Amino acid sequence: MICDKCQRQATYSRKYSGETLCSECFSNSILHKAAKTISKYKMIKNDEVVCVAVSGGKDSLVLLDVLNKMSKTHNFTLFAVTIDEGIPGYRDEALKIVESFCAQLKIQHKVFSYKKLFDLTLEESLQLRNDQKPSSCSICGTFRRRALDHAAKSINADVIATGHNLDDFLQTFLINTLSGDTTKIGWMDPDTSSNKLRKIKPLSEIYESEIVFYAFTNNLPFQTEPCPHMDEGIRTEIREFLNLLESNHNGIKNNMYGSVLKISQFIKKANHKEKRNCSVCGNECSGNVCSVCKMITRLTSE
Ligand code: SF4
Ligand code: ZN
Repeated sequence: MICDKCQRQATYSRKYSGETLCSECFSNSILHKAAKTISKYKMIKNDEVVCVAVSGGKDSLVLLDVLNKMSKTHNFTLFAVTIDEGIPGYRDEALKIVESFCAQLKIQHKVFSYKKLFDLTLEESLQLRNDQKPSSCSICGTFRRRALDHAAKSINADVIATGHNLDDFLQTFLINTLSGDTTKIGWMDPDTSSNKLRKIKPLSEIYESEIVFYAFTNNLPFQTEPCPHMDEGIRTEIREFLNLLESNHNGIKNNMYGSVLKISQFIKKANHKEKRNCSVCGNECSGNVCSVCKMITRLTSE
């Protein structure tokens, strides 16, 4: 197999486009795709501070690597943050990987924990539930959004960048659809330009399988051990379902991505509400009480 672009030995075959690429041309194509997504949604502006959420998994380390390469020719500053959920034995290995990768790239790094912010680790929250409800990931996701907002504000960042890839995006859409949560589909619109603190996902147009290949071919370190709660929700089943569809119909994930973009924009417009402030904690929210305060009340009153 020969690379379509430079005639060297190819290492990657991109089934949905029919291209075969060598490692270098493949990596350049990923940088190019991420740059295109960033420019399409004006995700990063000159002189901004970008708070990069780095968990230690492949997506966030690829994101940090890609943004670091772009920052050499563009005018923005990176600051890495890691959220420590308090999952015994899981986050420690990831933290070491992130610390050493940030030191190698000379990027500042800070850790923020659920325990400090909410006075509850994820594990302690799970002990407080009745009947396994709410799910681990729904508690964790609610807390993580707030923890990232807090982290970004405390380092004076303009933008929060997360490593969500195209597969994550499609899975989230199906999870929200299957649970009937159409409001959250509206949140998926990548245009966050009207928000004070913009949330960006520069890898959202890249397949997960390509993120994995980029990490391997660029020798990036990453944590391979999954979170012990990963298989409790429906996400793993949906991931397998979408992968099966893609293996039978190359490019179907790209098609679906285009549809989800349109649906999320439509729902966001239809659901538009003026932002208010939570009557308990004062953070911005759409109702009287924010989702974090509701979650903490639910857990601690059960
Ligand atoms: Fe949190 Fe769920 Fe992710 Fe584990 S898998 S870190 S519980 S969101
Ligand atoms: Zn609140």
